[in-house]
Amino acid sequence: MSHSATRVLVLNSGSSSLKYQLLDMRDSSRLAVGLVERIGEQTSRLTHTCLGSGDTREQNGPIADHEAALKAVAEELTKDGLGLDSPELAAIGHRVVHGGMFFTEPTVIDDAVLTEIERLIPVAPLHNPANLTGIRTAQALRPDLPQVAVFDTAFHTTMPESAARYAINPKIADRYRIRRYGFHGTSHAYVSRATARLLGRAPEDVNVIVLHLGNGASASAVEGGRCVDTSMGLTPLEGLVMGTRSGDLDPAVIFHLARVGGLSMDEIDTLLNKRSGLFGLCGDNDMREIRSRIDEGDEEARLAFDIYIHRLKKYIGAYCAVLGRVDAVAFTAGVGENAASVREAAVAGLEGLGLAVDPELNAVRTDRARLISPAAARVAVAVVPTDEELEIATQTYALVGTGSGSAPVGNNS
Ligand code: AMP
Repeated sequence: MSHSATRVLVLNSGSSSLKYQLLDMRDSSRLAVGLVERIGEQTSRLTHTCLGSGDTREQNGPIADHEAALKAVAEELTKDGLGLDSPELAAIGHRVVHGGMFFTEPTVIDDAVLTEIERLIPVAPLHNPANLTGIRTAQALRPDLPQVAVFDTAFHTTMPESAARYAINPKIADRYRIRRYGFHGTSHAYVSRATARLLGRAPEDVNVIVLHLGNGASASAVEGGRCVDTSMGLTPLEGLVMGTRSGDLDPAVIFHLARVGGLSMDEIDTLLNKRSGLFGLCGDNDMREIRSRIDEGDEEARLAFDIYIHRLKKYIGAYCAVLGRVDAVAFTAGVGENAASVREAAVAGLEGLGLAVDPELNAVRTDRARLISPAAARVAVAVVPTDEELEIATQTYALVGTGSGSAPVGNNS
């Protein structure tokens, strides 16, 4: 890596999308951001913004696959003088959803790393194949450049076995790699540290409950900077009520749907992952819609909201018990950062646990990290915007910025 190389391209490849950001790590500023949507369809769209000029360009029309998508992104970056061939580009950081037990830290990608990510496809069938395609395409475009995988699961690998294991036969669990991995780890790591900073304390000194409430949602208990429990499990289906996922349910619901309802495994999978949660309960998965329906007196939306909040409260209570001492509860992601009504309802009645929200502070709209608890509260309640791209870029740059650019495979696993 050249000494002047201070830029990191962050790629987040979904099954039919590619999100990207180009950052300058000297000051963590964004140079360009964008999104390719509906890859593989006739109606693909690339939206690209160059932050320097403020220009936004849009391309509509079919983009066949991730390779074509990344090439189109590379062309857009070149137009802004930010091309992938620039000597200023230090590395590409990839979000990889499932790193299993093997990857506990960001890792420079080589063939052995690719093989391991591929071996994890059975536990992340929707995500890891897309992540792999993104990596391979980027490697083809810049074979000489360090590529780093930053895993959604890595932050949770510190969970004790008592929290990570399901109560099933360990031999069976190990044979099929069944355990609680947790997801959204990059966000939980970033937000727990940012919360400590907001409190003016070192991450090692604070215990934080992080509530990542987006379309997907998860909670984590972070003790002195280390994750000790999280609500998602083998897959992102477990835990909180989400936009379209059910979260926790009695596993026997699945037997019942198969035996009594006659549904196939694929149908049940789709039902629980894509047609449940808020959407399944009331037909909307956007909290803004749900709130406005509640304001109009819609009972279905009200019940969906109440079920969502009830589950959230149970996790806050559970993680107070797991941590013993809680210094802060941090709300983040689309719902957590924006929906004051969710924050208020989630904390209502929890004064016994030292939790309260000041209505005026809760109503303030800003994209800065802030406290919303009354000054005298025992536990700080905070709104802390997440920034997964910055976290991926920071972790990537920390790894390649040392000058070696080639950390050992599966380092520290
Ligand atoms: P994310 O997955 O973090 O991008 O979050 C997306 C979700 O955030 C959406 O589905 C909405 O439910 C929610 N959301 C975004 N903006 C708002 C807002 N202003 N008020 C309430 N909910 C919001």
